[in-house]
Amino acid sequence: MELRDQIALVTGGSRGIGFGIARALAEGGARVAVVGRSEEGAVAAADGLSGEGHRGFSCDVSDPQETAELIERVSAELGPVELLVNNAGITRDQILLRLTHEDWDEVMAVNLKGAFNMTKLVARGMMRKRNGVILNISSVVGVSGNAGQSNYAASKAGLLGFTKSVARELASRNVRCNAIAPGYIDTDMTRSLDEEQTEALKSQIPLGRLGTPEDIAGVARFLAGPSARYITGQVLTVDGGMVM
Ligand code: NDP
Repeated sequence: MELRDQIALVTGGSRGIGFGIARALAEGGARVAVVGRSEEGAVAAADGLSGEGHRGFSCDVSDPQETAELIERVSAELGPVELLVNNAGITRDQILLRLTHEDWDEVMAVNLKGAFNMTKLVARGMMRKRNGVILNISSVVGVSGNAGQSNYAASKAGLLGFTKSVARELASRNVRCNAIAPGYIDTDMTRSLDEEQTEALKSQIPLGRLGTPEDIAGVARFLAGPSARYITGQVLTVDGGMVM
């Protein structure tokens, strides 16, 4: 229980990778604020975590006003956030020539600005306490690029620059900031792939299978905890060996 009594907040914690991370942090002893767009989904997810004291909240992370209200509610109900996981993310895939400005803006607003909104709001409290961990969920396509995902890959690459800059700014106050770059993980986001596409993907993955939310969650729990106390500004790729 290395995270005992830590207050964690996981955006996009109601489903998929975020729910897996929320579960792992709760198993480590943290009290988790689960955040999703739907309040019902977030509350149900929080109720499904082990241990006591978890709560579900609805918030659109791309909206500065909503995120400010969220942090006030979380502070009042659970306490100041000590462990932030910026996981909420969306795709609006399209080849460049068909990609609309709305598709570009929406993906940037949730995936990149959402992380900025949340991090800015919790950073001051973490710095004052000389204790805090920020984890950003990027993607291997932020490193390698991907045809048909120029908006998404740019947002995830942006998150890596954000991670390293925040790590440099906050390190002297003992606040760590790292990123995880998952490969293809079996969630709602990737379930639209047909069998042929899934098989083609698997053939590019040395470990021979898509990942699971648990594959990411274990790494998040490690990076959140004291075993990772000397790690900051790093990107950990968790992709079955797809990008080396
Ligand atoms: P899912 O689509 O399964 O879940 C997305 C989660 O994000 C949901 O909880 C959803 O809430 C929440 N969310 C979406 N938009 C917002 C918003 N504007 N404000 C607040 N919450 C929001 O995604 P995954 O679990 O697959 O992905 C999680 C993260 O991992 C994303 O950042 C994704 O880019 C990244 N990733 C995923 C990979 C994969 O293969 N699956 C690979 C690499 C990275 P609600 O339930 O209320 O809609």
